[in-house]
Amino acid sequence: MGKRSRKQKNLHRLHGQWPDPHTSAWFEQTLQHNPMAAFITGSIIHHAGRTDVCSVCGDTPAPIYDALDAPYQSLRLCADCLGIREADYDERYQLRSGRT
Ligand SMILES: [Zn+2]
Repeated sequence: MGKRSRKQKNLHRLHGQWPDPHTSAWFEQTLQHNPMAAFITGSIIHHAGRTDVCSVCGDTPAPIYDALDAPYQSLRLCADCLGIREADYDERYQLRSGRT
């Protein structure tokens, strides 16, 4: 039992290391941190019939952002919701580069 074969990814949830938004891995992590957000986003995706939509409102286009100081760390955000979250919730996001 002394082998350390498991990757301890969950212990080091740094910026950019969260799974892509709306994947099953993302839902697992979001459920732990913000169950209501996971529920709302799940409903939005279900109604949109696609996963590349804004995590908050279901609008497109919605690129992937990594939160710099928010309670959960990756979201797809449309321009409106990005602005709202930064202005109203004082959260800061960074566009994830190199991925779509
Ligand atoms: Zn939105």
